[in-house]
Amino acid sequence: MKKGVIIFSILALLIVAGLFYWKPLSKNGEINITPEQQEKITNPEQKDAELQENEIATTTPFIIKGEISRGNPNKKQIIFTFDGGAGNSSADRILETAKKHNLKLTFFVTGKFAEKYPDTIKKIAASGHEIFNHTYSHPHLTQISDEQIREEFTKAEDIISNLTRTTTKPFFRAPYGERNQHILEVAQSLGYQSVFWTTDALDWMPDKTAEQVKQRIYSNLKNGAIILMHIGDNITGEILDEVFTKLENDGYKIVGLREGLR
Ligand SMILES: [Zn+2]
Repeated sequence: MKKGVIIFSILALLIVAGLFYWKPLSKNGEINITPEQQEKITNPEQKDAELQENEIATTTPFIIKGEISRGNPNKKQIIFTFDGGAGNSSADRILETAKKHNLKLTFFVTGKFAEKYPDTIKKIAASGHEIFNHTYSHPHLTQISDEQIREEFTKAEDIISNLTRTTTKPFFRAPYGERNQHILEVAQSLGYQSVFWTTDALDWMPDKTAEQVKQRIYSNLKNGAIILMHIGDNITGEILDEVFTKLENDGYKIVGLREGLR
């Protein structure tokens, strides 16, 4: 009987030790993306990516060292960010709404978006909003070489800054939210820090209604929240005035990224 208990204990210890041995750890002990997480990130939205001319994002936030994923938690304010990589269908309404509420907002756009819609970029910049780097061609950064990553950043910077007369540094947003510690280091060497989000409004999902996107935002409000929306989605422009009005009535200040980090 006693012998059985001892053997069982040894076996249990070996199993636990084995589990720890195989647990993937990054070289610095920092949080790394496991293949399972990677799978979650790239699927199932992958299919939608093609439908939506590749302007989509993951709904799976996780913490990476050196990355911004929330603004100042001590202030009752919400950071609104708009990614541009596909269409510009909500651009004018976003800008009108920002003007109406007297707000400065934050945009992450690709170089290709800027090539396709230079007037939109100029309008955003002329209205005093922030424009940061969303790469040139919206690639899966985890699947290309360091050299290609660097090219994605610098090409976007060249095109966008040529239109805005100002740099896209020091922030970037990874396409599809797909990044890891190594990509952050490459980006950092070029002067860019990754910005994630606390809430993906899911405006880009084909089956979402305006009501669902609004509720998604309202049910995820907290100090310093970073909301992800998209320039290329119709719902964004439709609901923004109502969303801003409600948040302001609830006592939230709506801010851009720089202000929201202070
Ligand atoms: Zn994007």
